[in-house]
Amino acid sequence: MDDLDRWDDHLRQYSREAQAHPELLLLSSPLERLWARAVALVFPARCVLCDRIDTPLCAECQRRLDAAISPVRVHTAPPLNHVIASGLHDGELRRVVHAIKFKSDRYAAAGLAVYLAGRLASVLERTTWKIDTVISVPLHKDRQYERGYNQSQLIALALAQRGAFRFSPQLLIRHRATRPQVGLSRANRLINVENAFRADPTLAAGRAVLLVDDVCTTGATLAACATALLEAGASRVYAVTVTAAR
Ligand SMILES: [Zn+2]
Repeated sequence: MDDLDRWDDHLRQYSREAQAHPELLLLSSPLERLWARAVALVFPARCVLCDRIDTPLCAECQRRLDAAISPVRVHTAPPLNHVIASGLHDGELRRVVHAIKFKSDRYAAAGLAVYLAGRLASVLERTTWKIDTVISVPLHKDRQYERGYNQSQLIALALAQRGAFRFSPQLLIRHRATRPQVGLSRANRLINVENAFRADPTLAAGRAVLLVDDVCTTGATLAACATALLEAGASRVYAVTVTAAR
C-alpha cells in the first residue's frame, strides 16, 4: 500500500469525524483522539489570543485575524524564486505561531493547525501553482521526539486534507541536526542547512511538491529542502509559510 492509498483509507475511515472535528484527524491514532476529547471535557481549551474558554483559537479571534492579515511574498535563494507567507511575523499572527510551537499540547496544536492551514489555502487560491503533494520542512527526529510533534507537519497535514493533496511525510527527511537559524547571517544560514535534507527518489519522482513551514526568514531552509527534492526527481517545488519576517 503506498502513501496515497493509505491516505485515502484514512480519509474514508474518519470522514464523519473529520466533518465535526477536523483537528482530531491530525492526531495519529484513535486512542489519541479519544484521549484528546476526554481531556478537553475536563480541561476545556482556552483561546491563545483572548484566553476565553473556547477552542484553541475562538471564532471571534479568527475573524479578527482573517481581516488583519494579508499575503507577503519573500524573495529567496534558488532553486526557489519566492515563498508566499499568509502574513507578516507580527502581532497576533506571530502570537499564534508562537503558541503552536511552544505553548500547546498536541491537541491544541492540531486546532491551531487547522486554522493556519485555512489561511495557507487562501494563499494558494491566488496562485496558479499545480500541486499534487504537500510536505512540511522536517525536524530532525531527535528534535521532533523532544517536542512531541512538528507544528509545520500538523499544518501541512491539515492543508493536505483540506485541498485533497497527497500528504507524503516520508518524502523528505532532515538527516543532519542543524543549529537553530535564529541569530545567523543570511550566508551562514545557507551553510548551516546545506545538505541537511535528503529526499526519497522513489517518492519524489515527477511530483509537484508544496513545502510548508511556519516561519520564513531568509528562505535558506526552504531552498535547501527544494534542492534536495529536485535532485531526487521532483518536477516542481513551491513553498508557503504562515508568516514571513520583515
Ligand atoms: Zn479568542
